[in-house]
Amino acid sequence: MSRIVMKFGGTSVADLDRIRNVARRVKREVDAGNEVAVVVSAMSGVTNQLVGYVDSLSKLHDPREYDAVVATGENVTSGLLAIALQELGVKARSWQGWQIPLRTDDAFGKARIEGVDGNLLIERMQAGEVSVVAGFQGIGPDNRIATLGRGGSDTSAVALAAAVKADRCDIYTDVDGVYTTDPRIVPRARKLPRIAYEEMLELASVGAKVLQTRSVELAMKERVRVQVLSSFAEADGGDLPGSLVVDEDEIVEKEIVAGIAYSRDEAKVTIRRVPDRPGIAASIFGPLSDAGVNVDMIVQNTSADGTTDMTFTLSRTDLPRAQVVMEENKEKLGYTEILTDSNVAKISVVGVGMRSHAGVAATMFKTLAAKGINIEVISTSEIKVSVLIGAEYTELAVRALHTAYGLDAA
Ligand code: ADP
Ligand code: ASP
Ligand code: MG
Repeated sequence: MSRIVMKFGGTSVADLDRIRNVARRVKREVDAGNEVAVVVSAMSGVTNQLVGYVDSLSKLHDPREYDAVVATGENVTSGLLAIALQELGVKARSWQGWQIPLRTDDAFGKARIEGVDGNLLIERMQAGEVSVVAGFQGIGPDNRIATLGRGGSDTSAVALAAAVKADRCDIYTDVDGVYTTDPRIVPRARKLPRIAYEEMLELASVGAKVLQTRSVELAMKERVRVQVLSSFAEADGGDLPGSLVVDEDEIVEKEIVAGIAYSRDEAKVTIRRVPDRPGIAASIFGPLSDAGVNVDMIVQNTSADGTTDMTFTLSRTDLPRAQVVMEENKEKLGYTEILTDSNVAKISVVGVGMRSHAGVAATMFKTLAAKGINIEVISTSEIKVSVLIGAEYTELAVRALHTAYGLDAA
């Protein structure tokens, strides 16, 4: 007997037939004698629609009200799945984040989990009842509903798995595992039976949305065994084996590059001709950080005339907020103009092998040059190289790099 947390993403619960399919899978685990809790996302497209409503009313909306709206998608699916399970004769009850409670900080819209009470969930599991928990949501310090950032149901699932000390956290989605890159844009991508926590963390953080970054961070910290698998494919009446996220030393054959990720949720800002003096970076990035804007890549040019251009990238959704902050500080910063570009994408190659092998970045630059793709910004870490390019080259760049690093399936 195992204790399992099963998480189903948006496409897996996209309509009533799929919710019935999910209910059958959950029943199978219950019938096998396992203790089961389930986490669900909103039906596919619903969260986007809700975000769209909020954005249409106000680009600079109150994040608490954004959360009040966008958290509702998951409420619907948790209730529906509980009903579908009851129809199959499985004891089930739906729960929203605040009822668990899953407590978060007050960073509304991208809140971090501060604690999860697993006791009641364990009691219910032991009594043979399946708890169906609405993912993506929790309750903030002032009793307001808070959401965990896009893709946050993965993090709800891992946090619950840690809280109930589950043997496994199975993330069911619309692909049958983690691939060397997004299989939707590179059909020759290869499935990775195992991927190291660190590589998965880095891939997720640069755009491989198969797992939310924080879910991997939390799994690594709490030693949760995460498996990514398909909610559609089946093998002999059981699940098709997926990908396991494991410690680096559990992987026998390590590739230099494990995978390639892309992100279209990028924007570039250039602040022209700011005075080049000590403290200028602090006075640009301090107010952005105070406004909850996360800056990613940064380049500062040197210049002979005492001024410099500062270029940085951020999430496209944060651009309107960043522009307001920069305008408010225009006099203090003393720049001449601000240029913005949302038509950019970030491409990253990731692999723990980079620690000991040189030449990964050089191969990336050569491959992109051969395709005539201009690199606008570069950043590196110990196990990653990222470049910013024109958004129209995203697929071309990912495919070319996938081939260049020898990742294409035979
Ligand atoms: P869910 O709704 O189940 O949470 P997501 O859409 O958030 O699903 O994540 C699954 C998607 O992640 C896949 O459909 C795939 O297009 C994308 N993806 C991006 N990179 C990868 C990768 N390296 N391996 C597998 N899937 C990936
Ligand atoms: N429904 C939320 C989203 O679309 C959370 C999730 O699916 O994980 O971002
Ligand atoms: Mg997801």
